[in-house]
Amino acid sequence: MPDTRTDVLVVGAGPIGLETAAVLADEGHRVQVVDAGSIGDTIARQFPPATRFFTSPERLALRGLPVPSATQEKTTGEEYLAYLRAFAAAHRLQVSTFTEVVAIRGRAGAFRVTVRDNWGRQSEIDTAVIVLATGGTAHPRRLGVPGEDLDGVRRALGDPHRYYGRRVLVIGGRNSAAESALRLYRVGARVSLAHRGEALNPRVKHWIRPEVESLLDEGEITRLMPREVVRIEPGRVILREPGGTATETTESIEVDDVLLQLGYTADRRIFELAGIPLTGARQAPEHDPATMATGVPGIYVVGTASAGTQDKFDVFIENSHQHADRVAAALAGRPAPAPTPPRPLPES
Ligand SMILES: Cc1cc2nc3c(=O)[nH]c(=O)nc-3n(C[C@H](O)[C@H](O)[C@H](O)COP(=O)(O)OP(=O)(O)OC[C@H]3O[C@@H](n4cnc5c(N)ncnc54)[C@H](O)[C@@H]3O)c2cc1C
Repeated sequence: MPDTRTDVLVVGAGPIGLETAAVLADEGHRVQVVDAGSIGDTIARQFPPATRFFTSPERLALRGLPVPSATQEKTTGEEYLAYLRAFAAAHRLQVSTFTEVVAIRGRAGAFRVTVRDNWGRQSEIDTAVIVLATGGTAHPRRLGVPGEDLDGVRRALGDPHRYYGRRVLVIGGRNSAAESALRLYRVGARVSLAHRGEALNPRVKHWIRPEVESLLDEGEITRLMPREVVRIEPGRVILREPGGTATETTESIEVDDVLLQLGYTADRRIFELAGIPLTGARQAPEHDPATMATGVPGIYVVGTASAGTQDKFDVFIENSHQHADRVAAALAGRPAPAPTPPRPLPES
């Protein structure tokens, strides 16, 4: 159970929430972290087994603590979760997992936050300051066609093993779709890849693209591009060329499973609860990038939560580390730290 009183409540125990909590605790604040799921819940839920980050380990490191690697390869989701646990323990962070924030009342210096645990029990935490580190990828993006909620449609790859011998239609044209198609092919699934574009998205990583492209060219993975989905029915998917009319020819693909890999949207509820306006096409929370302060005094936003729903990612772990220092400076009344120049060739 979380304490009933703290100086700073950090909502979200992803990498940037934990890093911010560690920095603020080092500055002498009494800090509590709550997360609706586990530590690193986004990574725990959204990374298929043995998936590696695109970002190199040195850029994932929190406060310069090296991310260990037995192989010197890029870090897997599992390795990073172990690192996050070790980071939280080493900094003696007080983290309450499976504790979701469901209401925020009060004002700077005297907020009362209602949390709900995994049994449905509610309790309250009084805090002077709130830091929202709630991430930007809570919900899989929807396709918006009839049938997408049928049981045979999945949104997370999970363990590819389950797809052996099955006809799987992967829908999407970015990294996740390309990587899923490759992994499904390699466990013995019969894979088709459908995408609205003429070809895979140009941002597909250069080490994934040639492997998928060659399997598409050889017909080992069936290329369905450009295609859009008209509807999904039990055991089949109806496709057509984009921009077509309902009366023109459609094609029907027989499938055992459909895997939607269309990216994610942010969860806006916490900002609505806190009364923080959302702006722009991304519906990002209004904030001052020098301090990460939102328009609601006493509430800050850090990490990917600050960017709303990102279509093309430009806020990710490697360029969010400095958010913690900005909040720390604002709380101490110090001038905002000079922005760290972006590292060359961002990796997400
Ligand atoms: C396959 C895959 C590969 C990726 N590769 C990379 C990569 O190479 N580099 C990179 O930077 N990123 C990558 N990402 C994205 C990565 O997951 C995010 O960049 C990272 O998790 C963001 O960290 P964060 O701390 O900002 O938020 P998150 O890790 O999303 O943490 C937010 C936390 O807030 C909690 N939360 C939300 N609402 C509430 C609430 N109301 N109450 C309590 N808790 C709440 C959530 O449970 C979650 O644990 C990848 C994602 C996927 C799926």
